[in-house]
Amino acid sequence: MGRKFFVGGNWKCNGTGEEVKKIVSTLNDGKVASSDVVDVVLSPPFVFLPLVKSLLRPDFHVAAQNCWVKKGGAYTGEISAEMLVNLDVPWVILGHSERRALLNESNEFVGDKVAYALSKGLKVIACVGETLEQREAGATMDVVASQTKAIADRITDWSNVVVAYEPVWAIGTGKVATPAQAQEVHSELRKWLQKNVSAEVAESTRIIYGGSVSGANCKELAAQPDVDGFLVGGASLKPEFVDIINAAT
Ligand code: PGA
Repeated sequence: MGRKFFVGGNWKCNGTGEEVKKIVSTLNDGKVASSDVVDVVLSPPFVFLPLVKSLLRPDFHVAAQNCWVKKGGAYTGEISAEMLVNLDVPWVILGHSERRALLNESNEFVGDKVAYALSKGLKVIACVGETLEQREAGATMDVVASQTKAIADRITDWSNVVVAYEPVWAIGTGKVATPAQAQEVHSELRKWLQKNVSAEVAESTRIIYGGSVSGANCKELAAQPDVDGFLVGGASLKPEFVDIINAAT
């Protein structure tokens, strides 16, 4: 019981140095509940991580948007988990649907990344979610379960994992899942964890929703019993992100 609300801001591939400073300053001035009540994690592009970290209020944390699947080395263009740890970046987002779709990241590859990042001491926001085609074919839970299974097969300790359910059809489209649609998948996912991992992991793991979350729709979603927070894209670059952080309070 008592899963702490979690709000992540995924800035994706957006921003200039000036814009980043402006967003951080807006968030630093925002009135939000204490970090005993809500975890807030911002995920700027890699190159802005040190800048954001240096400017950000101490009760908010940062996440990278990805990291390499194993130890660093001859992997041009990649960023290793070790580097994130070295820079005191505590969190990483893995398995975002944009990477799964555009960069062909398979369930197994994402599972390997999650396991490696956790083994280095990072905390992971692991993303799962179905496409519109899969939803219309009635395959939502099969898809989400196999994405989650590829992670569950490779890890034993879930205490540093937050699962983000992000239906692909809702991401960046303005077409948010209804509270009932989100609750249904979150509750099924929790049941899956209970059956395939443990009752304790099912009870304690935060399952957050992502896909067109806004200041206007966040309260109703946050009121669902199995929605433990949000992963926010577009709206995390705007002042309304403060309202989303406060959705559960
Ligand atoms: P969106 O993105 O809020 O812009 O739909 C969510 C995400 O991709 O994490």
